Amino acid sequence: MNAFDAQPLPNAASEQDLLAFHRLALLAGENPEIEPLLAALNEHLKAQGLVFCEPGSMFPGAKRLVTVPLHHGERYLGDLCLTIGPEDDSTLTAARLEFFSPLAVLVLAAKAPLQDDLQQERDRLEAVLEATNEAILMLDSDGVLVMATPSFETFTGISRHTVVGYPVNTLAQQIENQPGVPERLANIFRALSVEPVECQGGEIAITEPQYRVLVWYSLPLHSSHGVSLGRIFVFHDVTRERDLDRMRIEFIALVTHELRTPLTSVKGFSDLILEINPEGLDSEVRDYLQIIAQNADRLAALIKDILDITRVETDRIQLIPDFCDVEGVIRSTTLDMQPLIQEHGHRLTIEIQPGLPLIWTDAERLKQITTNLLNNAIKYTLNPGEILIQAVHITGVDELPPAARRDQILPCVMISVADTGTGISPEDQASLFKYFYRSTPPAHQSSVGSGLGLMLVKALVEMQGGQVWFESTLGVGSTFFFTIPVGKSVTTDHN
Ligand code: ADP
Repeated sequence: MNAFDAQPLPNAASEQDLLAFHRLALLAGENPEIEPLLAALNEHLKAQGLVFCEPGSMFPGAKRLVTVPLHHGERYLGDLCLTIGPEDDSTLTAARLEFFSPLAVLVLAAKAPLQDDLQQERDRLEAVLEATNEAILMLDSDGVLVMATPSFETFTGISRHTVVGYPVNTLAQQIENQPGVPERLANIFRALSVEPVECQGGEIAITEPQYRVLVWYSLPLHSSHGVSLGRIFVFHDVTRERDLDRMRIEFIALVTHELRTPLTSVKGFSDLILEINPEGLDSEVRDYLQIIAQNADRLAALIKDILDITRVETDRIQLIPDFCDVEGVIRSTTLDMQPLIQEHGHRLTIEIQPGLPLIWTDAERLKQITTNLLNNAIKYTLNPGEILIQAVHITGVDELPPAARRDQILPCVMISVADTGTGISPEDQASLFKYFYRSTPPAHQSSVGSGLGLMLVKALVEMQGGQVWFESTLGVGSTFFFTIPVGKSVTTDHN
């Protein structure tokens, strides 16, 4: 019987192999039944590293001991051992060696030098990884860190050699002990090494050895045959970009803040003149003053949006959450917008699911979100059109509409604003939540807007743990959805 037929084996022999065979031959001398197995081993063993200890050198009492060193990459893991006791008869020894030999061959085969072209490819890949500015780490499918690029050391101050080749827990512990590296990073590694999630990502700040903001993502890796290879983690340094962002935001905040004071005077005085003696004014002058007042209002609204955006971006927006009656907020929003709806001749329908729970949110911000979406529905629907506002309680993923992401915090309340308006083209849909983005249809260009409303909606919803998305068909209409988690009201009574 040949126990090695199925294994792909190396074919280069070395001096150490000869030594290994010499020692094996000694064993065989005592147990002739082992001969055929050794012959097979002899045929295939072409790699370095098989070590034979002298009797009793490791396990007292063992007559013979065969060990094969086990490595993981560069790291020595221990020895694969076969002991043969003084009382073992030759049949038992032969059986044991039969079991042991294929394992030994596999270990040695894994240690065999790579073929030239394979080695070259590996060297090239290693050189690229060593030169990359990103910190790239790879966990194998057993959660062992098998690779980390030099940038990982630069970013965290943790030596790669203390973590590569060890289970993810060693890496997590090193991170926890490392000053300036947030514990959250350890949790990210721990959680993702066991969670079979697809892509995950985020941003993390490290304060030592140097302040850095890192954008990270993590993906599962598979071979071309679909076999799991583990997970990769990539960390990209965006400190400079974030600094520039912060400077830009601070500049915008300063300028808009400074604009408010003269604007208040323009608005205040034009209103005052209009109020003091409207009849005494020439009709042309009155019209001009009204235009000034209206435009001052528009400018004030724009400045408010910009300041809100800058506050969101610098984490300075204050939420004042409380138990909030969604229906009350929707009714009050639509009441405020009634004049505009009438002016456009639209028909508004409100459908609130009976028994909607109170949600733990900032009512003013909820009103701001709803107002923005309703305002868009009014603006971007040709007169007269239909607008439908709905609010429903979602307790399970199955109740979400198909376009919604499945990772919503549940239970939640989902509010939607649907219109029979112009719709949004697929090209515009991709950029809708970006700064100052306004889509291209001429009907939109003539309407008043800053291109900041949706961005603000998204930021305010996400700050409260919800999500925003939309469905739209050009020429048919659009529906914008957002969710707000029910939050505290699930378990707390409302007193
Ligand atoms: P704006 O102040 O321009 O309305 P938003 O950020 O609210 O800014 O919206 C960005 C762009 O998205 C708008 O300019 C418009 O082109 C498009 N849009 C938003 N809502 C709708 C809608 N309900 N129907 C069609 N287009 C819309």
